[in-house]
Amino acid sequence: MTIPDLLWLLLPVAAAAGWFAARHSEAKSSRHYWNYTRNFHQGLNVLLSEQQGAASELVDNLSASMSQGSADTRRDTADTHIALGNLYRRRGEIERAILLHQSVIDKTELEDDVRATAQFELARDYDSAGLLDRSEKVFRELIDSPHRGNDAFESLLQLHERENDWQQAIKVAVNCQQATGIDCGVRLGQYHCELAGIAIKDAKPSAAQALLDQALVYSPECARALIMLAELAIDANDHARALQLYEQVEGLRPELMPEIIDKRFEALLKTGDAQLLEAFVKRIHNQRNAYSVIRRTRSVIATKYGERGADRFFKEQILKRPSLKGLRDWAQDQLALSKPGERDKVQVICNLLDQVVEDKPTYRCHSCGFQGNVMHWRCPTCGLWDSVSTIIGVEGE
Ligand SMILES: [Zn+2]
Repeated sequence: MTIPDLLWLLLPVAAAAGWFAARHSEAKSSRHYWNYTRNFHQGLNVLLSEQQGAASELVDNLSASMSQGSADTRRDTADTHIALGNLYRRRGEIERAILLHQSVIDKTELEDDVRATAQFELARDYDSAGLLDRSEKVFRELIDSPHRGNDAFESLLQLHERENDWQQAIKVAVNCQQATGIDCGVRLGQYHCELAGIAIKDAKPSAAQALLDQALVYSPECARALIMLAELAIDANDHARALQLYEQVEGLRPELMPEIIDKRFEALLKTGDAQLLEAFVKRIHNQRNAYSVIRRTRSVIATKYGERGADRFFKEQILKRPSLKGLRDWAQDQLALSKPGERDKVQVICNLLDQVVEDKPTYRCHSCGFQGNVMHWRCPTCGLWDSVSTIIGVEGE
């Protein structure tokens, strides 16, 4: 065994030993505790020895304890075997993990909660092995259990999400909500948005519309559904409706303004309503804005009202809310205006700012800290929905 392997094992072993010690600190006889820890350490020795058939030895040991021990000993032995099975799984030795967890499930003498935990871990073993059908079957058997039922629902949802099986995910989430009372509204909204996205790709706007309406029934504040509905409205030339929906998005999630600003201006320009456009530009003018909003508004002002007004707006906004991206644009403006003798120096500053801006991520997950330059409605690292948003501040928007 290499040193990194050993270190890898030490962490869960230390955690497990602490947990077992805490469990046994109360009113348990020293003899019982001794039997228990001996059992655990024997198991670890077998695990560390990496002998062929080591898991079979542990299974034999489990059978012996089941036939001889008291109810407490049986429970503790089963817990030990489940923990050791988990260690095998983490090492990638799935067959051994399955053997250990299955052997616990097979013991009829055990209490239901211990067996449910072994079942849950067995389903995770199958999941790790890529045997998703088996994993799903075991999770489904568990969802009605008073023990680990909620965990099984969560794992089933994650399984269908990974598979992009949104229809199944919807069924499980609805069941979960009815059976456990856990609110799955945000997820149900997102699942319907996923299906609506597929309908849009298949050129089925009516189906997409119905799915997005349903998304809002489950999740009335689903900004993604509102944004998708606004885009459908633009495609259907219903610009007034699109503007109404964008207004709602801004009210619910102002940090999403950079995501909607291009389409919002597109809808505004297509209405041909000069007063409406002017009022919106004025509103942007009077508030602090994200960089993308400033840049897009500047280009609209330049086209509609002239370059001088656009430059004035830009400078005011950059002072109101300084950002590296804004500074880079300002430096590029200066490059065009600079005298030939100074141009090289300004160019160096421009190159430097370009490099700095390029290295900065645009989005961050508020839950796990994942950063990237593409908007995700579901965090690719922690799997949470609606947790990724634009980075606001000097280094971001
Ligand atoms: Zn995350």
